[in-house]
Amino acid sequence: MTENKIAITEDGLKNLQKYMELSPEAANMQKELAVGNEIFQENLGEYFSDKPEPSPEAAKRFKEFKANLRVNSQEAALHQEPKVAVVGCSDSRVTPHIIFSRLALNDTFSVLNAGNILSPVALESLNVPASHSTTLILFLGHTNCGAMNACAKERTSQQKNENMAIIVEEIAKSAPADVKTADELAQFNVAMDMYKFANSDNDGIKKALESGVTKISGAIYNMNDFKVTFMDYITAASLLNKVRG
Ligand SMILES: [Zn+2]
Repeated sequence: MTENKIAITEDGLKNLQKYMELSPEAANMQKELAVGNEIFQENLGEYFSDKPEPSPEAAKRFKEFKANLRVNSQEAALHQEPKVAVVGCSDSRVTPHIIFSRLALNDTFSVLNAGNILSPVALESLNVPASHSTTLILFLGHTNCGAMNACAKERTSQQKNENMAIIVEEIAKSAPADVKTADELAQFNVAMDMYKFANSDNDGIKKALESGVTKISGAIYNMNDFKVTFMDYITAASLLNKVRG
């Protein structure tokens, strides 16, 4: 976790652009996640007692969606075959299976840590979906993240959080010094995670990316409205260009 700052290069950005160009299968997977998140938003009453009950149409859509997903669970005991991998924050409010309504076993390969940092361990974990021809690896940040807040606090008031020193250092490395808010740090962190993954020297991951089967996507989950917004290459590149050189 103490490796030097990652250098952003022209070739590195080209790799990211190539691997973020979604294949039809990866685009379908991303669409499925977006629909799952819409269904989650429509059915908040299912999850939170203080939210209104879903409309009959929304409840029906949720029921059908869950029924389709359950079919996958029946085969899950035989072998692992994740359709999507999510690298997300450990935050208990950002559980991927819930916010994307993806409730089936064997559907989602999750790599979670505080601040959704692509550490060496997280990177190696992604060998599993890469070797199972998973079509999409999603790097998911979120608003109001505790890890980003700790980093923002250190930047604005020099207030060190010794208990999260390694995490804060990793986040701080990826964003320019003048970025001081937690939500902006979350955006930079997702862009950097994607860049690091696209330029990994891990053989299994390189092979999966070069084959064109595995694609990369990024997104931010907004705690206030429960909505996931995907990040395109142009946005990621404009962030990464700020820390180039
Ligand atoms: Zn978080």
